[in-house]
Amino acid sequence: MHGLRGREMTTGGSHHVCPANECQQGLTRPILMCRPHWRMVPKVMQRDVTRSWRNAARLAKEPMGDSDRVQAVRDYLVARRAAVDFVNGRLAHD
Ligand SMILES: [Zn+2]
Repeated sequence: MHGLRGREMTTGGSHHVCPANECQQGLTRPILMCRPHWRMVPKVMQRDVTRSWRNAARLAKEPMGDSDRVQAVRDYLVARRAAVDFVNGRLAHD
């Protein structure tokens, strides 16, 4: 059960692009956004994303029920979505 990270933890991909609107910055490290856009995310949201990502990554390695893992990944996706939506909202208003 070690496919979780590669398949669903998309920040862990070897190559992806920043999810902010019109940003095509390629990211090769397991970070959510390029540095300028990540800096636009409020600290509290950054903490939620980082904490939920770590939690999901940790649970992926532990012998727990799939429901716990699914919930952890869901928490991460919610936190990530909030951060991306925030940045895109800011960009739309500038
Ligand atoms: Zn970006």
